[in-house]
Amino acid sequence: MPAKDKPNYWWSLLTMKCPRCRKGPMFVSHNPWNLKKTLKMPERCPECNQPYKLEVGFWYGTGYVSYAVMIALSVASFIAWWVIIGMSVNDNRFFWWLGVNAVLLIVLQPWVMRLSRAIYLNFFVRYDGNYKNTNVTTFDSGTSGYYEKEN
Ligand SMILES: [Zn+2]
Repeated sequence: MPAKDKPNYWWSLLTMKCPRCRKGPMFVSHNPWNLKKTLKMPERCPECNQPYKLEVGFWYGTGYVSYAVMIALSVASFIAWWVIIGMSVNDNRFFWWLGVNAVLLIVLQPWVMRLSRAIYLNFFVRYDGNYKNTNVTTFDSGTSGYYEKEN
């Protein structure tokens, strides 16, 4: 597949696409704030058949990723606040930022949870432009029947 057809990494990450083909959606519902379906994922990618949950308890590690994402968001909002509104030791603007940032993190929580799963899966599953002719990524390619048994 020519490089120009390769979907952009950041775009596929932000739109929560399968890391292997960058085409199939990782989540059933497009809207992360549909809270009943926030973390509802298909068993496998509808486009390339890549399993999303690579082992039992696979998503536990996303807790660390979402922590890192929340820190990154806080740093970004801190800098934005500093540039746009400014901060001083003589007034309450810093505490306003604390409050606004806390609300921001709560509102963004469903999206952060999804993004963390997308980032986490991208650690383990590489993009494969030739996905139609290759095998899906699993933790143990020697025993390819492993996932078939589980399903
Ligand atoms: Zn896929």
